[in-house]
Amino acid sequence: MKLVKLIANLGYGSRKQVAAMFRAGMVTDAQGEVLYADDQVAHADIRIEGEPLDPPAGLLLMLHKPVGYTCSTKDPGRIVYDLLPPRFRLRSPMLSTVGRLDRDTSGLLLMTDDGALLHRIVSPKTHLPKVYEATLAHELRGDEAGVFASGTLLLESETTPLAPAQLEVVSPRTAHLTLTEGRYHQVRRMFAAVGNHVESLHRSRIGGLALGELAPGQWRLLDEADRERLF
Ligand code: URA
Repeated sequence: MKLVKLIANLGYGSRKQVAAMFRAGMVTDAQGEVLYADDQVAHADIRIEGEPLDPPAGLLLMLHKPVGYTCSTKDPGRIVYDLLPPRFRLRSPMLSTVGRLDRDTSGLLLMTDDGALLHRIVSPKTHLPKVYEATLAHELRGDEAGVFASGTLLLESETTPLAPAQLEVVSPRTAHLTLTEGRYHQVRRMFAAVGNHVESLHRSRIGGLALGELAPGQWRLLDEADRERLF
């Protein structure tokens, strides 16, 4: 791909603007030699005003989504894209969230521009376990784990029962719930179905990937080893 198109696709500007960046000598190689639009250079060797070029297409990142941010790009309030470099919103292919977390849910959110990878992660056929840590308004009754594991629980206004889910009770009002599907507000609706109410919700894990030390609002790119850990 031509350098102008490659850099424009990463959100640095229109092709016209990127061509002007070349003319201004802002695009160099790792040694600081000015590059021209027709040069053939490896992605890793390109610098824009001395800074390495953003990651190429095919990126996967994890974000520790704080409470109060939505996954939609249309929301007038705070959105998860506000936590990333502004250029990331302008990339082509587009960077999408892998599924969604509610505004009031915190935790591990994956984002990618790789459509095939996104579908593989969210598809219920992949059975990728996602772990949610819930704090509840009322003490657990004791029968919830059986109900969630049954594979027969039908949520209001749905026609197919939920896949079996595992509940690990941590204390009378806290529990970890592992799901392999992702229906709308699923965790909150599951607890509502057993007469409870979720007061706070946090996703700590997707497949073999955990948030680890990543602080709320922080993000990091995932490498090959992370991807292998995921599935
Ligand atoms: N289930 C919910 O209810 N909310 C989320 O954000 C994720 C799963």
